[in-house]
Amino acid sequence: MSGLELRNIVKNFGAVEVIRDVSLHVNDGEFVAFVGPSGCGKSTLLRLIAGLDKPTGGSIAIDGKDVTAISAADRGLAMVFQSYALYPHMSVRENLAFGLENTKVAKAEIEARITDAARMLEIEPFLQRRPGQLSGGQRQRVAIGRAIVRRPDAFLLDEPLSNLDAELRVSMRAELAALHARLKATMIYVTHDQVEAMTLADRIVVLRSGRVEQVGTPLELYNNPANRFVAGFIGAPH
Ligand code: ADP
Ligand code: MG
Repeated sequence: MSGLELRNIVKNFGAVEVIRDVSLHVNDGEFVAFVGPSGCGKSTLLRLIAGLDKPTGGSIAIDGKDVTAISAADRGLAMVFQSYALYPHMSVRENLAFGLENTKVAKAEIEARITDAARMLEIEPFLQRRPGQLSGGQRQRVAIGRAIVRRPDAFLLDEPLSNLDAELRVSMRAELAALHARLKATMIYVTHDQVEAMTLADRIVVLRSGRVEQVGTPLELYNNPANRFVAGFIGAPH
């Protein structure tokens, strides 16, 4: 089976159950948003999918293969964090190339990918600068660029726009939509902003206290919320 399959995922931190029996299938190329209030487990779930942490129970499969049987490098995933996580002592170019240099990707191919991503994200003028010399929006573009140059099958984005001001957030939203249309990669997008989820996602997963409350298209959730929590969160009439 193709795509990403979560089966009965449970995650405990000590005695605390943070993810409780989450099952979900994400199709190749789909844009799925995880929404829910702060602390509901969005980042934890994304980290489990990325292989940065292991579930306490359940299994995660990519294209029918258990992730534990696939090396991190071969999973075809790239993660973008809210905090950018750029190396301050490296130029933008070096940040983009970092991690690709010691792989099978040839030098000329790395250069071509950097040029392509920089053009797409309009960060060409800043390639020689350091992150400290960039605005928040430019830094976030670099962080997204670093994921793009890896040519992943799936992008895992953890509140990538939440540190930006409102105006920039709206324009970056449009850019993300364009990027998804162009790259045709799977996007798993964590946000606590329901407007972002409603405008970007093919499907929305509403989480509450580590459980899935509802999964559906933005329209399904809006027209047919499973309960008051979903309705309230989505901003649907109830
Ligand atoms: P969200 O991203 O939805 O805001 P998180 O996934 O970050 O939520 O956190 C879910 C819950 O798990 C929170 O109660 C948080 O305090 C707890 N948690 C997250 N990471 C850890 C950890 N490494 N150790 C202990 N508790 C954690
Ligand atoms: Mg989080």
